[in-house]
Amino acid sequence: MNASEHFPASYAAGRDRFRALARAEGGALHVLPHPAKGPDGGDISIDAAWFGPPDPARALLLVSATHGVEGHCGSGCQSGWLAAGGPRRLPAGVGALVIHAINPHGFAWTRRVTEDNVDLNRNFVDFDQPLPQNPAYDAIADAVAPREWTAESRAATLKVLLGYAREHGEFALQGALQGGQYRHPGGIFFGGAAPAWSRRRFLDLANRFLGRSRAVAFIDLHTGLGPYGYGEPISMQRPGTPGNTRARDWYGKELTTPESGDSKSAIIVGTLGQGLERELKNADLTSMALEYGTQPVPDVMLALRADNWLHLHGDVGSAQGRAIKRQVRDAFYQDHDDWKEKVLARALDMIDRGVAGLARA
Ligand SMILES: [Zn+2]
Repeated sequence: MNASEHFPASYAAGRDRFRALARAEGGALHVLPHPAKGPDGGDISIDAAWFGPPDPARALLLVSATHGVEGHCGSGCQSGWLAAGGPRRLPAGVGALVIHAINPHGFAWTRRVTEDNVDLNRNFVDFDQPLPQNPAYDAIADAVAPREWTAESRAATLKVLLGYAREHGEFALQGALQGGQYRHPGGIFFGGAAPAWSRRRFLDLANRFLGRSRAVAFIDLHTGLGPYGYGEPISMQRPGTPGNTRARDWYGKELTTPESGDSKSAIIVGTLGQGLERELKNADLTSMALEYGTQPVPDVMLALRADNWLHLHGDVGSAQGRAIKRQVRDAFYQDHDDWKEKVLARALDMIDRGVAGLARA
């Protein structure tokens, strides 16, 4: 298997490859157009492919590009699974909903966030209730998102962030940022002020295709945390819940849970998995984020801050804009054959484990 051929250089290339493979594998393709365009002026969309009988008792849900730019990896894993004949190997009575680019705007524009600067994986909170507080982020918000992005401003703001890390620990700094926040729309890891377009489409698709299933295995493909090329399976359900126990059983001892302190991820709220939990009331849901390592966390955070500045204050088409886009892509996608081989092999193995677990559920 040549893994590299499956990983797209652009959103459009990934979407086209996914569509062709989904059709070739007998999938029913559903295209949900996004109201905006990509940077090349081209149409963008969520593309969902359904495999198997309607309303199956058990179903796999495989999602890419929750964090836009991470779709280079996620799209590659999805196409690799289709090309490897994944749908044909599903056990009888098991269906699969494969959603390509749930955040197509972020993928097309090489951004982690949606068109409204929202972290989609923090957006699935109840906006009618008081929103989660993040005083740690509030304390460093000005340094995280400065008005200028020069060598001087980077040095000055980095000093503030490193000071925070010295006082509270490096993981506390990561948690202050990655934990998500709902007070700074111009900051990073902003969970939004209302349900995002992608959230509404995601729950519509889940209802339509999985609403009558009694067991659902959700795998959300992510990048940006952990050792180069390693895929960490992270449970999106709290320790002691049936979903977390099933995930441990299905995915093995490598499975981590942020609440248990054994994950590279901080504890986060408002995830797609939490949204599904509320939506699919009849299903036993087993939610896992497969998180691949790319670059060290400080480099990833720097890229996110640069991109945040670029879209608020800078010029995406300038030389500096292109350099920042390159920086963002590298932070969430390693364009190297060895990385792609490890990533795809891991994805295929984890999807197999999820499907095998479903078959026993
Ligand atoms: Zn992610």
